[in-house]
Amino acid sequence: MTTTRASLLGITIVAALTLLSAASGAQRVFPGTARDTSNVTRLIILGSGTPVPDPERAGPAYAVTYGTRVFLFDAGAGVMRRVAAAGLPIDGMTAVFLTHLHSDHTLGLPDVIHTTWVMGRAAPMPIIGPPGTAAMVDHLQAAWAEDIAIRTEGLEHGRPGGHRVTVRESAGGVVYDSAGIRIRAIPVKHGSWPVAFAFRIDTPDRSIVLGGDTAPSTALEEASRGVDVLVHEVYDSKRVAPERRPGGSTWPQYLREAHTSDEELGALAARAQPKQLVLSHVLRMGGPMEEVVAGVRRGGFTGTLVVAKDLDRF
Ligand SMILES: [Zn+2]
Ligand SMILES: [Zn+2]
Repeated sequence: MTTTRASLLGITIVAALTLLSAASGAQRVFPGTARDTSNVTRLIILGSGTPVPDPERAGPAYAVTYGTRVFLFDAGAGVMRRVAAAGLPIDGMTAVFLTHLHSDHTLGLPDVIHTTWVMGRAAPMPIIGPPGTAAMVDHLQAAWAEDIAIRTEGLEHGRPGGHRVTVRESAGGVVYDSAGIRIRAIPVKHGSWPVAFAFRIDTPDRSIVLGGDTAPSTALEEASRGVDVLVHEVYDSKRVAPERRPGGSTWPQYLREAHTSDEELGALAARAQPKQLVLSHVLRMGGPMEEVVAGVRRGGFTGTLVVAKDLDRF
């Protein structure tokens, strides 16, 4: 009796998943969303936020897509909900890249690993990040060990091994180069992190730099020269002050060593001349967004400037 119920349940689940697959081609998308597999590069802002749990902004995460390939950069909180909303495959990405291991950029990593498996991922998914990524992923897999066992051995009949990922730690340089797409990790200075990256993505039709979290970086500036899109973090220089909380006295020093002010970004972008500058991961510290934009203009950038919102496409 138990066996019959188990098989019936198995058949029901398989049938539902097959339907979903048939509707979306090889990669599964959330019902009601449309997957764009044209050979045109798209940058999709999945999360434009910061550590602040702003309901309008998921944690930092960006997707670059070309054809059927999907590259995910960072995995902030809420990432898989945004992946679903964007019509991107919910059963796995071509590769996942991490700029650094700060929690706001990695809280969604277990979501990416486990949800893609539960949604049908069978093959190990590549994750590329700075040193420390392998240990983080090992700990995540250990943390969900009971779930993995129950999903695999219980009535859910999860694909054995589908939760697996392959981790490659990088110190910088080319981290992906295949069929016309090249992705380079550019080491940047982000406070005390020994290794943090920006990424430059070159496809047949676009060049994109994702700045990650960084103090003003000449390496990033060089890599951004004339690119189609530069996505860069920024903080409001007018709001820099010690904060009334434990450790708050060194907040201004932390900002200067780990992040880029609006005026610094304006000056950097004026030199690099990206065709489009996109502000994301904006540390407003209570100020209005207009104040940050004005700061970037004061810094000297006169080109196209956009403040990212979640699910924006460039
Ligand atoms: Zn951050
Ligand atoms: Zn950070």
